[in-house]
Amino acid sequence: MDQTLIVAAAAIIRDGRVLAAQRAEPRALRGRWEFPGGKADPGESAADAVARECQEELGVRVRPLHQIGGDATFPAPDAGRTRPAVLRLWRADLVEGEPRPLEHLSLRWLSAAELPGLDWLPADVPFLDPLAEILTAG
Ligand code: C5P
Repeated sequence: MDQTLIVAAAAIIRDGRVLAAQRAEPRALRGRWEFPGGKADPGESAADAVARECQEELGVRVRPLHQIGGDATFPAPDAGRTRPAVLRLWRADLVEGEPRPLEHLSLRWLSAAELPGLDWLPADVPFLDPLAEILTAG
């Protein structure tokens, strides 16, 4: 029985907008949007994975604050197979640096109204409504 893969992503919020990232790879996902993040290493907490991935993918230091919503389950491609996975979204503050698309095609800061207009990865979609509420509440 495969262990569930934990994928941790960041909702970096600044001035009422959240940062979205456009995937470059793999080819099947190229051009689609996600919250920046990736697989947690074995034994690594989701919060630590969020901080590490933001450093690697965006070149910034963030402070993970709390999880938004619950776990979104999805099948993740892994080494030529599919494994059960969960996506955990963490609200995070930008601590140092300006995000740059080091591994993505592009980045966008989105308002609540702009959230539904992008072609999101399926696992990220359940987080759009809770995020819109957070952005609207200020
Ligand atoms: O970025 P990475 O390839 O490590 O992500 C692992 C898996 O998690 C991929 O299948 C990716 O599509 C998925 N993912 C996602 N939403 C995110 C980040 C990653 O569905 N925000």
